[in-house]
Amino acid sequence: MTTEENLLRKVSVGWTPQVLQAMQELLDGGSKIAITAHRSPDGDAVGSVLGLFHLFAAQGLKASVVLPDRFAAFLDWMPGAASIRFHSEEPEATEEIIGTADVLFCLDYNAPDRAGSLAEVIRTCSAKRIMIDHHRDPDAFAELMVSDPLCGSTCELICDWALSSGCWSDMNLEAAQCLYTGIVTDTGSFRFPSVTGHTHAVIAALLDLGLNHAEVHEATFDDQSLSRVQLHGFALSERLKIWEEAGIGVIALGLNDLERFNYVSGDTEGLVNRILGIRGVQMAIFMRESDPGKVKMSLRSKGMVDVQALASAHFSGGGHTNAAGGVLLGLSLADAKAQVDAVLENWIIEQR
Ligand code: 5GP
Ligand code: MN
Repeated sequence: MTTEENLLRKVSVGWTPQVLQAMQELLDGGSKIAITAHRSPDGDAVGSVLGLFHLFAAQGLKASVVLPDRFAAFLDWMPGAASIRFHSEEPEATEEIIGTADVLFCLDYNAPDRAGSLAEVIRTCSAKRIMIDHHRDPDAFAELMVSDPLCGSTCELICDWALSSGCWSDMNLEAAQCLYTGIVTDTGSFRFPSVTGHTHAVIAALLDLGLNHAEVHEATFDDQSLSRVQLHGFALSERLKIWEEAGIGVIALGLNDLERFNYVSGDTEGLVNRILGIRGVQMAIFMRESDPGKVKMSLRSKGMVDVQALASAHFSGGGHTNAAGGVLLGLSLADAKAQVDAVLENWIIEQR
């Protein structure tokens, strides 16, 4: 049995023969293709849109990539990143791209709202929408849905598409680098429970193609500004509150803290995982004042602790059991902290 045949046996159940055929029919015949992902795009969002873009390019298909807003600078190195268009920077041109597309890929999000300012055009455009995603409870907004909440990343789902549609031979180094990045970042470097033998088998196949994983790690994780590293140190030593008995850790950073360390977008990425890394901590919460009256929430947990439920019930958000996000609006940071304290006190009582 070839490596490819072996891999094929474990691809996501989302890629049914019907879905594969329907997607192929939409791609055939010179369709105009646009690819989108969620706002504040993370490694999996950027990795999946660019991975698919490179796979299509290898097949002679030209696609336009549109994202709601910019991603953190630590992903700038990704091949093809310079060709991405941003709605926040070119609203009319990017709405025209989506408005005139025949096929619209919606990657790494499960509802139009997750695409921020692009939500309306995604909802109303005449394109056939193909959602490929791994978040729980998807909205039925797309004509074709590949939704697999058991899969650790959208990038793995894209790899599975390449395998199950028979185009794995189109996997070039550019695509491999992008898809690898998304798998690594969304699995916390292969540590989350969502990682399977198949995840590693796909990675092995990417390495066999010549992917230099050490280069990807260095470009993504070991190229941080000094001020970012110092911000993490400050946050952990001066802004961390531990609820020892309950096993909860919370960091809250205000605009003044961020200014002090010359914050740029992406600088606090990974901080929430540092909280989770503390012995005894089962739930980690990171709060960042992004504008006056707006506090972004990032939640992580170990094992059965369900932060998705907490984020959707109290922070207008969602995500996965062990990684979720949300927002608190109309509150100062101090009031937001008080609200989180109250939510946690209730949560602790409920767990008893
Ligand atoms: P992060 O903490 O890295 O921003 O997000 C963690 C997870 O929660 C990601 O899977 C992300 O898609 C999800 N998430 C983050 N923010 C939101 C939000 O505002 N709404 C929903 N539904 N999910 C979110
Ligand atoms: Mn993802």
